[in-house]
Formats: sequence, structure tokens, C-alpha cells
Amino acid sequence: MNELKFKQRRKNLVSELREKGISDDTVLNAILGVPRHKFIDTALGERAYEDSALPIEMGQTISQPYTVARQTELLGIRSGEKVLEIGTGSGYQAAILCEMGADVYSVERHPELYERSRELLRALGYRARLKCGDGTLGWSAYAPYDAIVVTAGAPVVPHELTRQLKIGGTLVVPVGDSDKQAMLRITRIDENRYEEDSFSDFKFVPLIGKQGWDG
Ligand code: SAM
Repeated sequence: MNELKFKQRRKNLVSELREKGISDDTVLNAILGVPRHKFIDTALGERAYEDSALPIEMGQTISQPYTVARQTELLGIRSGEKVLEIGTGSGYQAAILCEMGADVYSVERHPELYERSRELLRALGYRARLKCGDGTLGWSAYAPYDAIVVTAGAPVVPHELTRQLKIGGTLVVPVGDSDKQAMLRITRIDENRYEEDSFSDFKFVPLIGKQGWDG
């Protein structure tokens, strides 16, 4: 399939996401700009712009476009802000954040996914900083962050991540059991106070680490 066809499919996907309630134009423009088909196996190319999660290496998934759009919308970031992603996976969400002009940091626990995404993002011209390790502990070397997004399901809010937020910063994290998680948006009000909103159910692969399912 040629690039023009993929572009048309991205436009259709954006219309579908709008109908499903995504209204932030910055997010929708980023979805229009990022070639999702490059982040999955070529054998799945035909399905790249379906609104569904798809398998990637190491038994993981590239999230459903609606989920990526919703999490990104909840982050409410502006160009130039510093954003930490936990769970690089395919690298797609990191590319969306770069496309929005964010200064992107991302942590992945599987070395294979970390290596692959690092190469791919570089090849596509996205300047994200990637690290291989346990993202439940954040990435303290570059903290504090304007926003943190967790793209795997946590049993509880990893408190180290809330500590790495700037005052006024936002953490978006799915929290629940292995079947479903509520999407929490936590805003840091001051040194010790946080405000929390909860949004409807999602289903993610597990967040595994010291402040995740293995903790
Ligand atoms: N954001 C990804 C994308 O755009 O493809 C979604 C990836 S998938 C839904 C979640 C990822 O989180 C998996 O790649 C998994 O290995 C990773 N993960 C799980 N626990 C982690 C942890 N403690 N630290 C870093 N990555 C973790």
C-alpha cells in the first residue's frame, strides 16, 4: 500500500476519533501526522488504522488509537513541555508526543522493545530520550515533569511518579485489576497536595515493577 493510501486512512481514523468524543485538535493533528503503520509488523499493515490495539513483540501491544488520543488529551500538554512516558512499547505514543512539540522522555522494561523503538524513532526523526528500566520508579535524572503518562495498567498509583511531577503537573495512569482499569488524572496542587479525577474503564497490559504488579 502506498503512503497516500495510509494518509487517507489516517484521515478516516481522525474522523472516527472525533465521532467517539476526542476534540483536542492538537492531539488529532498529531494522529494525522504519525505513520502508525511503521510501528507495527508489516504483516499487520492493513490493520494499522483500525481503532484497535494490535500485538507487538514480547507479548505486548500498541495501544488502541482512541486510548492514545484520550490519554494524550487528558495530559493537556503544550509545545515545549517536558513529558515522561512509562511503557515505550512500539514507540507510537512517544512519537505522538514529539509531534505535539513536547520534550519527550520514555522508559521501557523490555530491552528488545527499547532498542527497536529507539532505532525507529531516530529513523523517523523524532527526538525522544529513551531508557530501559523499571518505569514505576520514573526517571529521576530529568525530573520534575510537566506531565507523566503511564501506558500499562497499575494496581495502585506509583507514588514515585507523583513525586516527579512539577507543581501544577499532571499524571495520567490507568489503575485497577488485570481485567479493567479506571483512567486517573492526578494534578499536583503543591508540595504535598494532589487532586484526582477518574475516567471510565480501559484495559491495558500490566505495569510490572517495584511500584507495579511485582512490587
Ligand atoms: N505506549 C506504547 C505504545 O505506544 O506502543 C504502549 C505499549 S504497551 C500497552 C505497555 C508497555 O509498558 C509494554 O511495552 C510493557 O513492556 C511496558 N511496561 C510494563 N511495565 C513497565 C515498567 N515497569 N517500566 C517500563 N515499561 C513497562
